[in-house]
Amino acid sequence: MPDYGHELSFGTFITPNVSPSDGALQLARHSEELGFDLVSFQDHPYQLAFFDTWTLMTWVAAHTSRVQISANVHNLPLRPPAVLARAAASLDPLSGGRLALGLGAGGFWDAIVAMGGPRRTPGESVEALDEAIEIVRGIWDVDDRDRLRVDGEHYRVEGAKRGPRPAHDIPIWVGGYKPRMLRLIARRADGWLPSLFGLEPGDLARANEIIDETALEADRDPRAIRRMLNVGGDISASGTEPFHGPAERWVDDLLPLAVQDGISTFILATDDPAVMEAFALEVIPALRDAVTEARGLEGRAPNGVRSAAARAKRIAGIDYDGLPASLAAEAIEPGDPGYAAVRNTYNRGGAPGLVVTPRTVEQVADAIAFARHQPVPLGVRSGGHGVSGRSTNDGGVVIDMSHFAEITVLDEATRRVRVGPGARWMDVSAVLAPHGWALTSGDYGAVGVGGLATAGGFGWFAREHGLTIDHLRAVELVTASGELVRASEEEHPELFWAMRGAGANFGVATAFEFEAHPVPPHVGWAQLAFEASAAPGGVAGFLVNWAAAMVVTSRDVTSSLVLTPSVPGLPHIVRLLAVVDTADSGVVIERLRPFAGLAPIVGQQVQMAPYEEVVASLIEHAPHDEHGEPVSRSGLADTFGIQLATRTARLLEKRVSHFVQLRSLGGAVSDVESDATAYSGRSATVSIVAQGSEERALDAEWRQIEPLLSGSYLNFDSSLDPARLARAWSPQTLQRLRALKAECDPQNVFRDNFNVAAVRDAG
Ligand SMILES: Cc1cc2nc3c(=O)[nH]c(=O)nc-3n(C[C@H](O)[C@H](O)[C@H](O)COP(=O)(O)OP(=O)(O)OC[C@H]3O[C@@H](n4cnc5c(N)ncnc54)[C@H](O)[C@@H]3O)c2cc1C
Repeated sequence: MPDYGHELSFGTFITPNVSPSDGALQLARHSEELGFDLVSFQDHPYQLAFFDTWTLMTWVAAHTSRVQISANVHNLPLRPPAVLARAAASLDPLSGGRLALGLGAGGFWDAIVAMGGPRRTPGESVEALDEAIEIVRGIWDVDDRDRLRVDGEHYRVEGAKRGPRPAHDIPIWVGGYKPRMLRLIARRADGWLPSLFGLEPGDLARANEIIDETALEADRDPRAIRRMLNVGGDISASGTEPFHGPAERWVDDLLPLAVQDGISTFILATDDPAVMEAFALEVIPALRDAVTEARGLEGRAPNGVRSAAARAKRIAGIDYDGLPASLAAEAIEPGDPGYAAVRNTYNRGGAPGLVVTPRTVEQVADAIAFARHQPVPLGVRSGGHGVSGRSTNDGGVVIDMSHFAEITVLDEATRRVRVGPGARWMDVSAVLAPHGWALTSGDYGAVGVGGLATAGGFGWFAREHGLTIDHLRAVELVTASGELVRASEEEHPELFWAMRGAGANFGVATAFEFEAHPVPPHVGWAQLAFEASAAPGGVAGFLVNWAAAMVVTSRDVTSSLVLTPSVPGLPHIVRLLAVVDTADSGVVIERLRPFAGLAPIVGQQVQMAPYEEVVASLIEHAPHDEHGEPVSRSGLADTFGIQLATRTARLLEKRVSHFVQLRSLGGAVSDVESDATAYSGRSATVSIVAQGSEERALDAEWRQIEPLLSGSYLNFDSSLDPARLARAWSPQTLQRLRALKAECDPQNVFRDNFNVAAVRDAG
């Protein structure tokens, strides 16, 4: 007894009559109102009494909101497959992902020929359909960058552009009865759609056998092919024939088809609104109950089987079928509709083989247990803004923590807050603002908590309140062995130490507990533009003087400089951004005065603004698109002298970097002992970031800068070079981290990051 495990669904099969002109639409709307899942229409483009089916489907899609729409089935010989695919990929997003593509090989050949179509033998029809499906799926495969080429007997496409992107994985349903067609369905389709009128007793069982066997030979799960059936008749109290009688009679007739022949979609062929209504109200609920009872199940979840097209995009090396059942609903594969939204990160275009989006700590543990045995990279993602680009990959697994985004105030008196790694810093600041609190974090509100709070956190209060990790009081994480551990000064203190600076090496953080700090309702927020090339000593002189001014200014000021290449022949403009942590505008002006003399000011905006607005104000809705590996270099400098300034300015002069940012540190950051956390760069007063597009060119210049640096900040670097990585930690810190790594993650499960086990000794 085949049971393919699909939920039952029901459709209507409506004649696309031209008269009355709104008849088919009204029946479609009636179907939707009655709760049918699908409306479908025959496609006979040579039939004058009928509307063109595509046009009608579009009209119906525009006047309905929920119901799925399909042809039952399209006449392939009169519909060139590449165009058909594009029409489907257009109506699918237009209708909100409600399209299914029903395909038929032909029939009525005289009429087809009369319309300019080909005449095909049964064998040719199957071949042509096979080629057509390849083309249709190829056109929909917009992630494949190559133009589509299919060199078939019946259809040739020679470099067709792919797209548009369908809104969902459009199922392909094929009608047909003969073994050759059934074998094609088994290999290529998502559903088999015959009509009961064309079947003899035993035909369904025989056909299912052929489909199942062929699917298995083709390495497909037979459950991937939904078995559907067009049925017709009338529902009357008096009839006694099959499909002509009261609702109970219908249930008796349909039940064996569902539980013995595996049919899970019944499509009622009728243009009679009363029959539709009786079917919807009397037959469907009774049939559902009867099927549930016969299956011995209280309802049934969808079987989670992916379509052939989706499975074809799986990556070799990942044991997809071994994914724990607990993660089935949270797994996104390359062929899934949601994949485009999760494949890339802000800084890197990726093509992971599997993205798991857990919602519970148990699911995080299951995801780690699964990933541990996959011979592919493992990325851990929270906000997806990692400069390193390690939170996506090519062909690997990604654990995406974006569902862990809760922000909860735990204790008003101690300003204790619990924050999920998937939360964004702008959300954190918005939740804390009504309490009169903030958390020193980054300057860019869309950055995620998970990546920033495991490595450091340079933000607008750095000089006054230190790094984000300095406010961390406890962290909960799932370790490589799948254990949920809470680390704090009291519990697992060594792990707590390591999580503050090298966290990605030790597990997946599931929650952070911070102590927030007070913040006034408004702070000073300054954005100044300087003609730096006109400063004494030019741009380099400007940089040195800024750094010197920052060292002596009050701790309530934290600022940064943004440098981009100058336009040849024009002055070099450098932007200064600063936050002054006071509600007193007079103090703000006072604090900014020393900077005003650095160079001629060519633009300025100084305002009093809520901190949460400052953090949210710099967001740009870019890149998160398809682009390559990020190229970024980070340096920490204890002193920022003229040599370092000159070499920094040269990065732009030589155009090896398009973006250089200097940030002020020191102050409260340096109050913390360099071995108190696993962030080693406590003595630095300036952070330098340089981003480029050519790694070699940038490195050639960066090598001139490195000898003048005291360290680097992991969160601003993209280099996995072990020697370079060693600069992020002092030799003592590195040694301690490695010892802990050997204990907590002996298999080096968390390695596709700044991996302490791979770092070459700095010492
Ligand atoms: C536009 C922009 C502005 C920035 N501004 C600042 C700034 O002002 N100050 C600053 O300090 N940094 C800043 N950064 C750098 C930022 O801190 C890091 O890129 C950080 O890693 C991003 O965190 P995320 O969760 O968004 O990143 P993701 O890409 O999700 O993660 C980055 C890395 O962190 C690790 N990780 C992520 N989640 C977890 C977790 N739950 N458990 C364990 N490890 C995890 C992984 O190794 C991952 O590869 C900025 C980055 C960008 C792109």
